Amino acid sequence: MTTATTALSGRAARSAGTPAPERAGAVSRDEREADVIVVGAGPAGSAAAYHLAVLGLDVLLLERSRLGRDKVCGDGLTPSAVRELVRMGVDTSSWQRNEGLRVVGGGHRLHFPWPEQPSFPSYGLARRRCDLDEDLARHAQRAGARLLTGVTVTAPVSSGGGQVTGVEARPSRSVAQPAIEGPTTFTAPLVIDAGGVSARVATAVGRTKDGGRPLGVAVRAYFRSPRAQDTWMESQLELWDGPPGSSSLLPGYGWIWSVGDGLVNVGLGSVASSASAAASRSIDYRAVFAAWMRNVPASWELTADNQVGRLASAALPMAFNRRPHYERGLMLLGDAGGMVSPFNGEGIAQALLSGRLAAEAAAQGAARSTTAGREQALAQYPRALAAEMGGYYTLGRVFVSLIEHPEVMRLCTRYGLPRKRLMRVVTKLLSDGWERRGGDGVDRLIQLLTRMVPSA
Ligand SMILES: Cc1cc2nc3c(=O)[nH]c(=O)nc-3n(C[C@H](O)[C@H](O)[C@H](O)COP(=O)(O)OP(=O)(O)OC[C@H]3O[C@@H](n4cnc5c(N)ncnc54)[C@H](O)[C@@H]3O)c2cc1C
Repeated sequence: MTTATTALSGRAARSAGTPAPERAGAVSRDEREADVIVVGAGPAGSAAAYHLAVLGLDVLLLERSRLGRDKVCGDGLTPSAVRELVRMGVDTSSWQRNEGLRVVGGGHRLHFPWPEQPSFPSYGLARRRCDLDEDLARHAQRAGARLLTGVTVTAPVSSGGGQVTGVEARPSRSVAQPAIEGPTTFTAPLVIDAGGVSARVATAVGRTKDGGRPLGVAVRAYFRSPRAQDTWMESQLELWDGPPGSSSLLPGYGWIWSVGDGLVNVGLGSVASSASAAASRSIDYRAVFAAWMRNVPASWELTADNQVGRLASAALPMAFNRRPHYERGLMLLGDAGGMVSPFNGEGIAQALLSGRLAAEAAAQGAARSTTAGREQALAQYPRALAAEMGGYYTLGRVFVSLIEHPEVMRLCTRYGLPRKRLMRVVTKLLSDGWERRGGDGVDRLIQLLTRMVPSA
């Protein structure tokens, strides 16, 4: 069912205790205005809407799909994503838990448990995106955000000076009961594009992708599997098209992990250091996936009969490939700001984090009484992102430029994996599980490295 709330402000809705009644159709003039408009109720948009509502801002969350829609993803949540969910007070007690990474490659099969750390819990999670995204959107709504589904944002609304002051939207054709009846203009002094890879609003104001940044492509499918109780996230660094070691290596690397309900998420992807390097490869991901499936251990039972739904693919925009993250009334979050990690293809933790940082800057901006003061406060958002991830992503770009060469990847896998000390550094680095302040020797080494390089 599509959802529209009345024009309660974030604070008022919270004091009412429950989300406003659901309905579809026309929205009144008051309902078309807000302190902040968030485009897209994926993890980035819902996190931003939640934090904004908690901070007392009136926030409109516009989503083109219905709740419970699917999204092509591996559904894996590392401890850094769990940390953000804890900060939001999301109840994850029924979600699939995992205790660490199992890495298979170079003749090795090694387990790396998530360590107990000051800032990160010693477990990860997995949840199908159809459930995760609905949970997060509902969570934002319960906090007071006004969620409108079946609303496709088509263009930004700008003032003469190029300041973004709202969005144009139309009812989504694919949604049975869209929350608006016809073309509608929504206005707010701040607009957040959390619309994923397509970043429609950002693209419309000329914030194009930086083709010099890494880009990933990945495919995934669900299978019923007798090993769906496995509590490790398995990464396969080498994909063989026949018996391991004596057949040909396929391009890319794969994952298999449980998402609960007897299902595993199975996928593979590859990464290139730039959009042109990605375009110059002609990888038939479906064929590679099929060849890999014929050779995964039989114990997983990844057969055609056990496949649930179709094999689907999508792009992963990495290392801040779309910027600036704030300018002239428009913020970019999550995939819209190219925030997928070049180290491991993870984007949910970054999407949640960007939602929190954006909301903090927006609340400071809303409390200022002058335009100059407000703009200064909003400009803290890209600074906060750069401080958290800037140097880290610069290192990530170097990492991708090395591992995109299969022979380098093969040497790292064969000789790096068995070295325990080295792998402690690598695991923290790759999963973004390093302490930004303090921590142990490994944390301090990564802190030093990220400070030695310019921000991405
Ligand atoms: C195959 C694959 C596997 C992956 N595996 C993982 C993984 O295991 N773990 C991980 O952390 N990350 C993974 N990622 C990355 C992750 O999926 C993304 O980084 C993450 O979804 C980004 O969240 P987001 O909220 O920025 O964007 P999205 O999740 O894309 O959400 C954007 C939302 O905006 C809505 N929207 C778009 N345009 C409009 C519009 N014009 N009007 C209104 N609404 C709009 C969309 O319907 C959607 O709900 C994977 C990606 C791929 C492709």
